[in-house]
Amino acid sequence: MAIVKFHGGCHQIGKSCVEVNTKKSKILLDCGMDPSDNSLPDIKDSEYDAVLVSHAHLDHCGAIPYFNFKKVYCNPPTADLMYNVWKDTVNLSKIYKEEDIKKTMDVIKTVKYREEKQVTSDIKMKMHDAGHILGSSSIYLDVDGKKLLYTGDINEIETRTLCSADTDIDEIDTIIIESTYGSPLDIKPARKVLEKQLIDEISETIENGGKVIIPVFAVGRSQEIIVVINNYMKSGALKEVPIYVNGSLTHTIGMYMGYSEWLNPKIKNTIENRINPFGNLIKNSDEVFNKEPCIIISTSGMVQGGPILQYLSLLKNPKNKLILTGYQAEGTIGRSLEEGVKEITPFKRAIPVNGTVIKVEFSAHADYNSLIRYLKKIPEPKKAIVMHGERYQALSLAMTIWKTFKIPAIAPTNGSILPLF
Ligand SMILES: [Zn+2]
Ligand SMILES: [Zn+2]
Repeated sequence: MAIVKFHGGCHQIGKSCVEVNTKKSKILLDCGMDPSDNSLPDIKDSEYDAVLVSHAHLDHCGAIPYFNFKKVYCNPPTADLMYNVWKDTVNLSKIYKEEDIKKTMDVIKTVKYREEKQVTSDIKMKMHDAGHILGSSSIYLDVDGKKLLYTGDINEIETRTLCSADTDIDEIDTIIIESTYGSPLDIKPARKVLEKQLIDEISETIENGGKVIIPVFAVGRSQEIIVVINNYMKSGALKEVPIYVNGSLTHTIGMYMGYSEWLNPKIKNTIENRINPFGNLIKNSDEVFNKEPCIIISTSGMVQGGPILQYLSLLKNPKNKLILTGYQAEGTIGRSLEEGVKEITPFKRAIPVNGTVIKVEFSAHADYNSLIRYLKKIPEPKKAIVMHGERYQALSLAMTIWKTFKIPAIAPTNGSILPLF
């Protein structure tokens, strides 16, 4: 009998790491780090035949270079993006070194969406577009004849940069599903409404001559937000002001352009017609402190490390505004700002927060309704396991699946071992 064991990512967002263990083989689905405290899954790398990576976010791939794995499977854009996020990790947290990245790049095997791959003697896999970031995948496994779908992070709606999650999937025995927005309290406004809200907030600050600071992850909603801002500026609905981005963002935008065939067909056509959908971006420099008004888009998304920290002093000025656009984990500066603290201490000296802090949840994740729609579109699984959500969200989605679909559903805790069949 095969089992799944959860090394991380249960009742939390961070450190996703799921072991699939049969009599003959042992693999991992993702091997992430917890971005709030840099902790890693407690595993013994030599036991595993391979790691299969859903996408290039730190909570899914951040721990990989720390270990010595024999093989790492992912698709080509994910391999490139991982290199980028690992380099950032080396610079920021030093939990591994440049040589560890090189050693990991040497064992990466790339696969395309929907390409069937024999991973071990009794495990076959197929990746489906998950609609979450460039290259993001749901991983479909045939484990000795039993079918497992690991959704990874999914977005069920089409966005400006990406297609919606692929739901044309073969029959499923067990689904392991994310639950970032798994509770009925997590119903988000429509994308168009959010875009309008974001632009209105930016507009207000710019009209007042202030600066807008937007913390983002290098990959995902940052590209989406830049395309939205650029479109509104081009149409004249938003005043044209300089947009400053940091180095790793420029780099990942380049990758989005380079992998245009993995994007939404509309943006792919734009790129093929030699129009840059991201517009003119300026590399961050000290010039932003004197430039008024302007927009600063910088990593990291939870304001925990990264170049964004050096711009937080701008919050002393009440004219300026910081816009959070995604989930803020407990213990991060982003979460404190979201909770309305009056003072932050990114470095030695405390900074008073006199500027405005708001949140426009520009998520790359399916909201509650969207998760239910996703479950209705895919073949009905016989059993559901819910992870990648805080405790309330995970338990809530498990309850909804059980009540709505009459499917046994649980939200295990880290360390749990469950039979796969
Ligand atoms: Zn993600
Ligand atoms: Zn995630």
